Amino acid sequence: MHPTLVDIGLNLAHDSFDHDRDQVVGAAVAAGVRHMVITGSTLDSSRAAIELARTAPDRFRATAGIHPHHAHEFHEEDVPALRSLLLEPEVGAAGECGLDYFRNFSPHEDQERVFHRQLALAAELARPVFLHQRDAHDAFMAILREYRPRLPAGVAHCFTGDERELRDYLDLDLSIGITGWICDERRGHHLRELVRLIPADRLMIETDAPYLLPRDLTPKPQGRRNEPKYLPHILDTVAACRGAAAEAVAETTTRNALRFFGFEK
Ligand SMILES: [Zn+2]
Repeated sequence: MHPTLVDIGLNLAHDSFDHDRDQVVGAAVAAGVRHMVITGSTLDSSRAAIELARTAPDRFRATAGIHPHHAHEFHEEDVPALRSLLLEPEVGAAGECGLDYFRNFSPHEDQERVFHRQLALAAELARPVFLHQRDAHDAFMAILREYRPRLPAGVAHCFTGDERELRDYLDLDLSIGITGWICDERRGHHLRELVRLIPADRLMIETDAPYLLPRDLTPKPQGRRNEPKYLPHILDTVAACRGAAAEAVAETTTRNALRFFGFEK
């Protein structure tokens, strides 16, 4: 049995959990995942994440923010609502926020506008940021560099990039979130080497459930829904890649996450 773990990215408000959310949390806790950070990606889902977090404030934190996919839905008149969500005591970070030029569900202009706005808010309110970036590294870095000196902390969640991206993030003193992507032999192979370059005090782990079911789980769960109870599997993979004991990686990633998301307040 591992020391207790923190899942720093779990979309627990997602409707695929509507019929069995309590069992999902119970199974995660039984697997040693004692703390979970519930991702917000729109105003509504951030409110839902905060409400869930409020049901067990020792167990949960929420993030509040606008995912780049939803940037086109967010306007200047929505800023006061986001600001007040960021002030809720259950909120451990601003986000997820960032840029996604892979899917391009929002025009780049909207994505950049909303990323700027959220970083400015996070700086104003001294909140750490929970960051998403895909296929937009240079634009993302240019914006983030402007705000980084005024931000208390940041985590590049679901890191799937290359070595240059990783080194840029570490140079900005960001933490790195690793998901079950690393368990994917085809898409995640490069991460097996790169994860060794992350200093222990910058590493955190996450499932991104219900997305990103680790591809190498045995036996294969029915359906494709990922759950926070699979976090120990991700931990084991990360530890094996780093040539470290799972217990040691559990201990440091948990300490990092509890501090980052303000569980220790
Ligand atoms: Zn994301």
